[in-house]
Amino acid sequence: MRAFVKYGKNPYEAGLCEIPVPQPGPEEVLVRVDSCGICGSDLHAYRASSGYEWVKPPVTLGHEFAGTVEAAGGAVSEFAEGDQVVVIGIQGCGYCRSCRSGDTNLCYNRKVIGLDMDGGMATHAVVNHRHLIRLAEGTDPLLAAMTEPLSVAVHALSRVEVRPALKTVVTGPGPIGLLCAAVAARGGAEVLVCGTSADESARLPTVRQMGYTAVNTDQVALPKAVASHCEGEQPDLWIEASGATSALEASIRLLRRGGNLLVVGMYAKELPFFPSAAVRAELTFHFAYASTYRDYSRAIDLIRTNAIDLKLLCQPYPLDRAEEAFREAEAGRTLKPILVP
Ligand SMILES: [Zn+2]
Ligand SMILES: [Zn+2]
Repeated sequence: MRAFVKYGKNPYEAGLCEIPVPQPGPEEVLVRVDSCGICGSDLHAYRASSGYEWVKPPVTLGHEFAGTVEAAGGAVSEFAEGDQVVVIGIQGCGYCRSCRSGDTNLCYNRKVIGLDMDGGMATHAVVNHRHLIRLAEGTDPLLAAMTEPLSVAVHALSRVEVRPALKTVVTGPGPIGLLCAAVAARGGAEVLVCGTSADESARLPTVRQMGYTAVNTDQVALPKAVASHCEGEQPDLWIEASGATSALEASIRLLRRGGNLLVVGMYAKELPFFPSAAVRAELTFHFAYASTYRDYSRAIDLIRTNAIDLKLLCQPYPLDRAEEAFREAEAGRTLKPILVP
């Protein structure tokens, strides 16, 4: 079968390869992949960024995927040929303290399919039945690949209270920032999404298409944009999804007293942090990572009911053009490229 494989340790040692179709063990399911999104972490693995040394080639990339059951091992009773399923990207061991309380995203032995083991950028993938969830019947196969990123936004927003008219700022208009904005807006929040000139080719135009206020902070200074969104007041909630420490710093300065900071970005730099300002303002910091099985179920519901116009974010590419999709994603010319085998 065709698969997009990270085959060497060095940057860009990845590409389409011909490998055997995997065979499911007794507890596994053979999934015919319908769609697989390219995530920021796939780009990091592709480029062999620092912090990704643990990825051991050869590995088929892809953790944001959905498909159709083609065959199931002898010990699998809940899935049968033809079922439409989505794969849990970050998989818990099922036994540790975190897993036992349902926080599989915090599992001490968590594994990421498509980085720790072969993933979904291929025509087929083998997945343990414990890490599959059935999709609503008739789910658009392209949108099904959005379940994982949407579940991450659902998880993040479950950590704060969202109410109507909540003045909210999102820094970082990538897929996760945009999906966080969408989930917050569904709860009634008034959302401002901030990006830079680098986001003008794909991301900020999509924010505007989705109906949210977008600002390019290379053109309007961030404090000014925030003040005008909040009509002279300060934001109640700040969602930091850019991974820029400067945005994190700004959020601490610009949030209202008693405000909430929700951090979902990943940072390449440390942040020198003077805590007294946060103490005097009684800010609450929340950090959110990945998602749990519960969040997947909520995301599946949001997709089934068309609650968010996810089509605006998706850019399909045939699997054969995976390299082009990676390059486009790297250059920021697409928001969420989705490989379709
Ligand atoms: Zn992802
Ligand atoms: Zn665990």
